[in-house]
Amino acid sequence: MQKFDAFPDFAEVTPTGRISAALHGWRAKCLQRLVRLDLPVPRTVALPATAVRAIAAGHVVDCATLLAIFGDAPLVSVRPSPANPDWGGPATILNVGLNAARHAALAKLHGQPAADALYLRFVQSYATHVARLDPDMFDSREASPESIRDALRKYEHEMEEPFPEDPARQLSEVLRSMARAWEGTSARLLRQAKGAPADAALGLVVQSMAQGIAGGISGSGVIQFVDPVSGHPQITGRYLGQSQGRDALKRTEALYLTRDLRGPSLEDIAPQIFADLVAYGSACRARLREEMQIEFTIEDGRLSVLDAVRVQRSSRAGLRIAVALADDHVITRDEAVMRVEPRALSELLHHQVDPRGPRDVFARGIAASPGAAAGALVFSSAAAQSFASRGEPCILVRRETAPEDIRGMHSAVGVLTERGGVTSHAAVIARGLGVPCVVGASGLRLDSKDKKLTAADGRIFREGDRITLDGTAGEALAGEAAMLPPALDENFRKLLHWADQARDIGIRANADTPADAELARRFEAEGIGLCRTEHMFFDEDRLVVMREMIFADTPQDRAAALDRLLPMQRADFVQLFEIMRGKPVCIRLFDPPLHEFLPQSREGLRDLAEALDKPLSDVTRRAEALAEFNPMLGMRGVRLGVVLPEIYNMQAQAIFEATVEVGRRGDPVVPEIMIPLVSARREVELVKTRIDAVAATVRNHSGQAFDYRLGVMVETPRAALRAGEIAQHSAFLSFGTNDLTQMTYGLSRDDAGRFMNTYVQQGVFPEDPFHTLDVDGVGELLLIGADRGRRTRADLVVSICGEHGGNPESIAFCRKAGFDYVSCSPFRVPLARLAAAHLAI
Ligand code: PEP
Ligand code: MG
Repeated sequence: MQKFDAFPDFAEVTPTGRISAALHGWRAKCLQRLVRLDLPVPRTVALPATAVRAIAAGHVVDCATLLAIFGDAPLVSVRPSPANPDWGGPATILNVGLNAARHAALAKLHGQPAADALYLRFVQSYATHVARLDPDMFDSREASPESIRDALRKYEHEMEEPFPEDPARQLSEVLRSMARAWEGTSARLLRQAKGAPADAALGLVVQSMAQGIAGGISGSGVIQFVDPVSGHPQITGRYLGQSQGRDALKRTEALYLTRDLRGPSLEDIAPQIFADLVAYGSACRARLREEMQIEFTIEDGRLSVLDAVRVQRSSRAGLRIAVALADDHVITRDEAVMRVEPRALSELLHHQVDPRGPRDVFARGIAASPGAAAGALVFSSAAAQSFASRGEPCILVRRETAPEDIRGMHSAVGVLTERGGVTSHAAVIARGLGVPCVVGASGLRLDSKDKKLTAADGRIFREGDRITLDGTAGEALAGEAAMLPPALDENFRKLLHWADQARDIGIRANADTPADAELARRFEAEGIGLCRTEHMFFDEDRLVVMREMIFADTPQDRAAALDRLLPMQRADFVQLFEIMRGKPVCIRLFDPPLHEFLPQSREGLRDLAEALDKPLSDVTRRAEALAEFNPMLGMRGVRLGVVLPEIYNMQAQAIFEATVEVGRRGDPVVPEIMIPLVSARREVELVKTRIDAVAATVRNHSGQAFDYRLGVMVETPRAALRAGEIAQHSAFLSFGTNDLTQMTYGLSRDDAGRFMNTYVQQGVFPEDPFHTLDVDGVGELLLIGADRGRRTRADLVVSICGEHGGNPESIAFCRKAGFDYVSCSPFRVPLARLAAAHLAI
């Protein structure tokens, strides 16, 4: 390692030199690794961040001493080298040291055209990047003695001094301008947006120029060994004769690297150089433990490697590369797991709008369910069903959705609503279905009657118009955008199995229907953590019986309707138990207010009156009687169970009969039954006594023994505070953080979307608490509830099943609090498995 007097920290990049990524930057460190691999890297000197700071502050560098390291009359390049490559940095400057004398010498060596091209290019980049003159003045492309003279004249005129001839002065100015550019406000904001700390420092790398504009075979290019979109092994890159830097990537006449039918390639014109590059690529992969892109230059047949950077990659390529590196024992499996960002997985589970295509956005809202879909715009569930029956994909747009829209949502490929937040009905159902959904697109004007949607910019969309919904970005686009397909391949499964080996918190799925349960199994959830049974009643045939039950005047009529529901429920549970094959299934008893099952429109009420064979006035009166001022805080959850015990009794009977039936055919089933919206111990006692009685009856009738576990959903602040006594009757507690957030804040989960953006923008809430668990408030209730519950019962199983369950931050919180598992919608299970592994590694 050679040191320099002017700046004692200047270090030549040699195999043993003391170069650190923190001080000299990632590029200097990477170059040192290439040197250690014996790659032909031109002589390089690294300037540490301390020196660059001093230069920015006005310290003058002895550049003559620095240049002397590079020999007689050298040409050098200066490149930025921040600690992290993602933080960017000022533009690289090539050919520093060029002046009239050197220009003449180069003309003799490589010919006039090559010398002119180099000189013009240097004057242009010095004028625009160092002297900061207007680039438009220096945009001439054709190099000739005349265009060079013209550029020099303009420089002199603007700067009121001749172009600097002294290489040491040139270098000193280049260093100063790059150091200052790093300190500029826009550069600072840009890198901070990419996660750089406020005091992020810049190192600089000064390197001897390998001349791609010269005699013989000369040129430059980049090569990489994987496809950046798919991650498959494939040599890609470009090479351009008589060029420098990254020219080859910008020009259409650049050559491919491997033999190609479209014309000559680098492999054809320089097979040995090509073979060397391939060998360097393998060495980099094995020793730098990463897929690298190599920047190279050929000067008169001699290959130099100037730089190597991590290949830019899509999410799917990132996953494939990590798995391949671990399979080849280059990195460990844990490292592969850590290299894939959990949130990147959701891109792989769904179709995505191709980022390379155009985007004509006409509405923005909350990204409520990821993925993208294109189809015809429809304004009602009936229209969605009729489009779907003709095999035409459609996007359902509604002010907000209600249970009677479920069939429409099943039929649609995407759902857009004007109102609602991340836990609104539309959002929850769409996530469960895996259908892209955007909610709270409040800039829209919706006229369902006239089937007309007016965007904020005045554009009008009508039924049948093609649109694309991007649920990942929270945007609706006009027309059909180009898509990338999902990527649930062998690599995906492999990486998640590695994650499972590392993680130490369970992951279950929220699954309401057999189709959800199939998904849960496909994504390898460890069980069902929440089956919302009411979602089983939304199919048309059941909705009718459900309504008959709600409208029953007497307990006998109600019992008759429930008798018809019983076999349907039993069949559902049989299916769920069979699909989950011995994995735990946690069934939540009926939760929503009954009025949610009533028709919303007069037409619907008329249909119902017909079905029930009752006068419309009776039906209307009954519907009005059931209406509540505040249904989410009214007769719902366990309150229904206490007041109308027949519903829970029927559900318990269906669960136990299914348990007996499936248990007879295979392994015993131990169902978990969960009581929603509890706030008092007595509620649990009452329901438990009745369910125990139903269990005894089913055991008697079937002659078969079985076990079951009864638990409580903690969704009210009081349940969390009184968890100690509630746990006396509960084998498990599951925190329903959707309702718990709603009740802790006193914030309607269905209406908060309207003002949530303003609240977050003004810093009232750091994030939407329905999306990211409020660890300070709601989180404290979780800790209190878990602690008090466990004090009563050491073996109490504690979990979370609100929408937060699939969120990496919430998983971290729950893991730290010692929860046994988290439960989230099936499509978030892979993300949760990976996020949990990240926490444990
Ligand atoms: C909850 O409240 O967190 C929950 C899971 O139940 P639901 O969303 O069905 O109210
Ligand atoms: Mg709830």
